[in-house]
Amino acid sequence: MKKTNFNTSPGKKPNIELNKPDDSKFWQQPNFTLLAYLIFILSSFYLWHGIAETRQQEIPYSEFLTHVDNQEIAEAVITEKTITGTLTIIDEKTKKPRQFFTVPLWDNDLARNLEQNGVTYKVRQSSKWLTTFLFSWIIPFGLLFWFWHIMAQKMGGAGKNFLNIGGNRIHIHAESDLNVTFDDVAGAEEAKLELKEIIEFLKQPERIKSLGGRMPKGILLTGAPGTGKTLMARAVAGEAKVPFFSISGSEFIEMFVGVGAARVRELFVQARQKAPCIIFIDELDAIGGSRGMGPALGGHDEREQTLNQLLTEMDGFDTSTGVVVLAATNRPEILDKALLRSGRFDRQIIVDKPDLLDRLAILKLHTKEMKIADDVDLNVVAQRTPGFVGADLENIANEAAIGAVRENHQKITMDDFEKAIDRVMAGPEKKHRAMNDNEKNRVAFHESGHALVAKNLPTAEPIHKVSIIPRGVAALGYTLQLPVTEKFLSTKQEMKEQITILLGGRSAEEIVFHDVSSGAQNDLERATEIAHSMVCQLGMSERLGPLTYGKQQRLMYLDVAAREERNFSEETARLIDEEIKNLVEEGHQQAMEIISSKRNILDKLASRLLEKEVLSGEEVEQIVKTGE
Ligand code: ADP
Ligand code: MG
Ligand code: ZN
Repeated sequence: MKKTNFNTSPGKKPNIELNKPDDSKFWQQPNFTLLAYLIFILSSFYLWHGIAETRQQEIPYSEFLTHVDNQEIAEAVITEKTITGTLTIIDEKTKKPRQFFTVPLWDNDLARNLEQNGVTYKVRQSSKWLTTFLFSWIIPFGLLFWFWHIMAQKMGGAGKNFLNIGGNRIHIHAESDLNVTFDDVAGAEEAKLELKEIIEFLKQPERIKSLGGRMPKGILLTGAPGTGKTLMARAVAGEAKVPFFSISGSEFIEMFVGVGAARVRELFVQARQKAPCIIFIDELDAIGGSRGMGPALGGHDEREQTLNQLLTEMDGFDTSTGVVVLAATNRPEILDKALLRSGRFDRQIIVDKPDLLDRLAILKLHTKEMKIADDVDLNVVAQRTPGFVGADLENIANEAAIGAVRENHQKITMDDFEKAIDRVMAGPEKKHRAMNDNEKNRVAFHESGHALVAKNLPTAEPIHKVSIIPRGVAALGYTLQLPVTEKFLSTKQEMKEQITILLGGRSAEEIVFHDVSSGAQNDLERATEIAHSMVCQLGMSERLGPLTYGKQQRLMYLDVAAREERNFSEETARLIDEEIKNLVEEGHQQAMEIISSKRNILDKLASRLLEKEVLSGEEVEQIVKTGE
């Protein structure tokens, strides 16, 4: 539950609530006043009872028996739990016969004993049956019922007939007149092209039909988070000027069993009434993950029901009604196969991460309204952000603007952008997390090692920046290289040299401090990874030949949870390990050679880095070339 205030039910406007005819409202509304009265009356009843009891003095059972033996009992009332009564003894204070009560031991001889001593007694059912009944049954159940009622109301506006949770009272809101268009989506031309067809269809459903065409029922947008899938779905509705019903898969997870399925049903009912229109199911993987994965992997009764309902609905409608179902996911591979079958989401549109030109376009779009200084080159920003998605770039533009305000700039400068990139890339600068001088010295040499090695290898990408300002949790410093052009292939030599560069940091530490530190861990990991894929996936080892070893089983789209299946012998496994080790070792050797032969330049780089904390590509170039 997200909201905790009991008075509002989501998706309902209060004014509508008030204008409703007051038909038997008593049972519909959680009636706080009534409840308060009830509690008050019952508690006073209980209290009064308690007081009545305490007017009588409790006496030990043994004393009671003595009174019986002494024939001092005037009368007694016996219930299962207590014996109350009056003594023949007069109380000094009240001048009345003393009253008493006692809790008896269950004693079968009591009746005979009383009779023998001539005591008049009555046997009654426990006089507290009423209270017991009320407190142990009526109130708890009443409270439960009341609570359930409130929950039912909150869950889906099922206030009218709350026994029918998630009946047809579910409110689904369609957005119409969306003013998002394809102009708000920069780049992604391929995806846009495919979606244009759907827009045409939504604009004139009859026309496509008369030409004998058939629309796909469901279109699945797939791509990494932040690539603009949601944005694009909205733009389709905006372009076609049709209502947009959207629902997010994750919304279903917190609902009562049955509500999700009911919502899906209602969604399709309403969509049919408003056709042509778009139904958009965001984060489809939240409900559409493979069934039967078991609870540990998110197996969920509710989810399963919802998914089944969705499948049923998709089978049950035909595209000529003008309803188009769009869905988005960043994990298409975990979707239940049944969803991807023909007649369901049988068309997939891949929304790629933006390339250089697209990144530039996105940056331009998001800085359109901003005051940008003349020195800002968005091209460089785009170059510096390979792998960034639209959401990241928007974030950069935003961070740059915030930074400019903080620094009191009249316009957003290139410096603001640089800082914004760094911030988005590696978390906010951790200047306060100061390294001690020893550590700083070490990091300076480490990063200089990377830079120096990179400068001495023919295929290495140019250095853009070397920094020893600590950022985020892991990185104490970094050496940033930038590709001249976007690259899609790597040669064996390039990959080997990458390993060498990665080992440059550690090698520098070895040479300067005759010792290594934990700071190189990430470098080694990446170097090993590269070597591994060279040997096992890319057939770049001569001894193992152009074969692939091990089947990669990707469980998730972007996450690392890849499992490897072995399809080779122990012997081969040993060979693979050897080859990986050789590759990394070779890189290490080469890095050591480069650094020892240019030790003076390493020192220069490190001292300049210590002094300035950040060196630009040109500054590094200068030092490497002239030694100054
Ligand atoms: P997804 O649904 O794929 O995770 P979103 O559609 O929610 O991504 O994108 C988040 C934000 O990123 C959008 O609101 C938009 O501002 C920005 N964005 C993403 N891709 C683009 C793009 N191609 N053009 C312009 N802005 C984009
Ligand atoms: Mg989204
Ligand atoms: Zn390093």
